[in-house]
Amino acid sequence: MTLIPELTILQPADKEQIDLPRTSEEELAVGKKRLYIESYGCQMNFADSEIVAAVMRNAGFATTSSAEDADLIFLNTCAIRDNAEQKVRHRLKHLTGLKRQKPELLVGMLGCMAERLKTKLLEEEKVVDIVAGPDAYRDIPKLVEEAESGQKAVNVFLSREETYADISPIRLNSNGVTAFVSIMRGCDNMCSFCVVPFTRGRERSRDPFSIVREAQDLFDRGYREVTLLGQNVDSYKWQGAEGFGQRAEDDAVFMPSAQTSLPTTTFANLLEMVARIHPDLRVRFSTSHPKDITDDVLHTMARYDNICKYIHLPAQSGNSRVLKLMNRTYDRPWYIGKIDRIREILGDDCGISTDMISGFCTETEEEHQESLSLMNYVRYDYAYMFAYSERPGTLAAKKYADDIPEDIKKRRLNEIIAKQLEHSAERNQRHIGQVQRVLIEGFSKRSDDFLCGRNDQNKMVVFPRGNYQKGQYVNVLVTECTSATLRGEVVNT
Ligand code: SAM
Ligand code: SF4
Repeated sequence: MTLIPELTILQPADKEQIDLPRTSEEELAVGKKRLYIESYGCQMNFADSEIVAAVMRNAGFATTSSAEDADLIFLNTCAIRDNAEQKVRHRLKHLTGLKRQKPELLVGMLGCMAERLKTKLLEEEKVVDIVAGPDAYRDIPKLVEEAESGQKAVNVFLSREETYADISPIRLNSNGVTAFVSIMRGCDNMCSFCVVPFTRGRERSRDPFSIVREAQDLFDRGYREVTLLGQNVDSYKWQGAEGFGQRAEDDAVFMPSAQTSLPTTTFANLLEMVARIHPDLRVRFSTSHPKDITDDVLHTMARYDNICKYIHLPAQSGNSRVLKLMNRTYDRPWYIGKIDRIREILGDDCGISTDMISGFCTETEEEHQESLSLMNYVRYDYAYMFAYSERPGTLAAKKYADDIPEDIKKRRLNEIIAKQLEHSAERNQRHIGQVQRVLIEGFSKRSDDFLCGRNDQNKMVVFPRGNYQKGQYVNVLVTECTSATLRGEVVNT
């Protein structure tokens, strides 16, 4: 496997989701203007592009899968590391060529890079006509009109309320089986390395009933898995007249808040509400912050078979001093305590993954060794691993020198990657001889004679096609594995 210095993901399907841009799809569009959207970065961005597609459909646009055919091109961008921004800058060069051939073409920059650079983007990238931050997507049709009249158009206002709760996303690149559902926006955590609180604004949770409605609608349309998305899902909190426990059919106790008599819906409550839609609807969620994940969430996971036993619990580092500098608000023993709790409540088979950063400011060799030893302790199923990239405006950029040379960051990153490959292979081997319940997502990448889908722990399982269909659950006896994939055959459906 080639080692990619900034980003390595040990799950091929996830790699597809995160490493490559996703594009919009072809719609029938007689007489309509055509919109092409390319999305970079995290799952939240992909979910946002689906909201943008819905807003633009209402404004009379149809999506296309080809930039060359479009009247309007949006790049929904990521700013998390410098290389994410460079990728987009490179793409803009190509779009400059397109615009030369078709001067009426409009180009919009959306998302985190748009929010971070604001009007500076218009000065630096002449091809850009529209700049819209993550909370300005309702305003895009107006911005497009302005741009059509020859002006540059910008809205980077960050809201404290916007959750797009009432907008039904148009699924892009959908396999018709799995979908993302945004449950909150923004982040209040201020990890010192991270640009997200500046680009996505304050944390806010979405009305739980709009979430349940969206998940129910997906289920009714044949989807069988939803992933609830937020930067820190465990701090999900909704206080409202219609809280958990208000409906007659809810037998769970509702939790009155300390300040008001309005019921509070916590993340554990929300998980339960979504899990109750139907036992055949799988529920996943991402991302959990180690400081916030509660026993309540773990017990809720244990109670419902359809809540997948898989937790993405980013550690970032295994050393308490570095964690303090990162402002993660937990230390190594706290993190280990959470892992132990997961194992106690959900058992050894529960999948756990992490994000790790190598070469954060002032990280010593011994401290890096502690990241490796934490990995040895946890034995993650997979990991998303990065070399530290200083981001302008973050607390770390202001307070600490980015003093670890690039070659050392990369060497440490490669050590982390090598360790993870070992652990992924070891964790996958546990499944050999086990029967796994798999939700079929489609054909395997290599051959139409094979189907693939994920098990509970989010691992891709490949097996002979037989007469099985996308969207069906099958039981697969696992007979072999690599560090990325399980292989086997269907036993009894
Ligand atoms: N909210 C999630 C959490 O706290 O775990 C993560 C969100 S962030 C989009 C995804 C990952 O990118 C982080 O967990 C971190 O490992 C990585 N990341 C963020 N800023 C980074 C930076 N400046 N350099 C390298 N990696 C970074
Ligand atoms: Fe960034 Fe930390 Fe918020 Fe995650 S929790 S988005 S790493 S500030």
